[in-house]
Amino acid sequence: MPLANADNSHAVLEAVFDALPDSVFLIDPCSSGIVYCNREAWSGLGYSHAADLLDHSVLTLQKDVIGPEQWLSIAAEIRARAPYVFIGSHRHRLGRNIPVEVHTSCFRFNDREYFLSVARDITRRTQLERDLSARDAQLRFALNEASDGLWDWEIDTSTVFFSPQLKRMLGYGPDELDPTLASWTNNIHPDDAGVVSRILDEHLAGERERYEAEYRLRNRNGHYLWVHDRGRICERDKDGRPLRVVGMVQNITDRKNLEMRLQKLASHDSLTGLLNRREAEIVLDTQMGLCERLGVPLGICLFDLDNFKHINDTHGHPCGDKVLAGIAHLFGRHIRRSDFLCRWGGEEFMLICVDTNTEQLRHRIETLRHLLAEHTWETIDALDQVTASFGIASCPEHGSDARELFIAVDEALYRAKAAGRNRVEAAIVKALTP
Ligand code: GH3
Ligand code: MG
Ligand code: MG
Repeated sequence: MPLANADNSHAVLEAVFDALPDSVFLIDPCSSGIVYCNREAWSGLGYSHAADLLDHSVLTLQKDVIGPEQWLSIAAEIRARAPYVFIGSHRHRLGRNIPVEVHTSCFRFNDREYFLSVARDITRRTQLERDLSARDAQLRFALNEASDGLWDWEIDTSTVFFSPQLKRMLGYGPDELDPTLASWTNNIHPDDAGVVSRILDEHLAGERERYEAEYRLRNRNGHYLWVHDRGRICERDKDGRPLRVVGMVQNITDRKNLEMRLQKLASHDSLTGLLNRREAEIVLDTQMGLCERLGVPLGICLFDLDNFKHINDTHGHPCGDKVLAGIAHLFGRHIRRSDFLCRWGGEEFMLICVDTNTEQLRHRIETLRHLLAEHTWETIDALDQVTASFGIASCPEHGSDARELFIAVDEALYRAKAAGRNRVEAAIVKALTP
């Protein structure tokens, strides 16, 4: 806007200066006294009129300028390089300090020298900077000190940054382990790799909010650690396609080992090391379901040691324990990997055999019966022979659910005992009711 005429130009200029959001000071270079200031200058420092500030000088207003000598050297600097930029603090009338960035230039008017200072309140900026550097320090701490390892995967290039902590966790030095996706995928336990990659794919496809998995990861020595790994897409292209995923890996081997030990304690019998009855019932249910889906038979055998009370009474309870553990060991070596041998309770055992019909089971159980009867118990003095009676049944021949099958096999075992012990009896097929 051109100024209308010379008469009101002074007033217009004053209005312009008063409208500026920064503080403007006109300074006498010799005394550092303030000869002019705009509205923002006096109001920002807590004064009611410009005149209040004209009694002041740079020396009284600027906390960081101490004494006339320092002012003289600053004045020389201002003259040498304009604008002279200075970060300092202005004293507010009530005593607090206001951080400011001051740009000062030097000019002459009517043969007199002036300094023009424009000061900007940088309270907010310094606060932000402080916050940022605090956050930066926190981040640096988290990355350097935390025991969790960090990874950062750039999908398009298949490169992965592995943090020093992650390398250390896996036994590698800072310069080892190629920064490639293969360094990670090649070390996942083969039994876990499928699940892990499915979970990651689901996250990339947007079906899961985050990627999170527990799996075994091979370390530099070839041993597997259990890890808890979680991550999230942190960068996408303009079409929303994932570009980068960042995650953290935690070593949970100790927790997992404890968990597995507790699980084993809860599901196994401590004397024989076999599955306990509770677990056997679960296995029976799941294996029956599996065989039904596959359309194959499932055979079960319930067997009970003969006259075991007599063995205990003659040789002592600890010897009886040795016999129970010995049978688990003996039979364990002669069953298939897919069979489940369980301690049903006391001196009763259950064998669950998938894909086995009654006749096949009878054949296999006869082998076990002979094996036991002919076994020599070298570690137990004077123990001659241990025998057992066996009941066998199969699904669907003798029952369509676990309860029916158990009733059938229990009845078969009862007949084996009644018929003189040390024998195998098969369950009876129920006649179809018309
Ligand atoms: P049967 O041929 O009719 O089965 O006779 P049995 O003597 O084997 O049967 P009974 O039910 O009379 O006795 C079973 C014995 O098994 C009684 C019990 O003290 C013993 N027993 C059960 N559990 C254990 C165990 O964990 N250790 C030992 N040593 N003995 C056990
Ligand atoms: Mg018995
Ligand atoms: Mg018994």
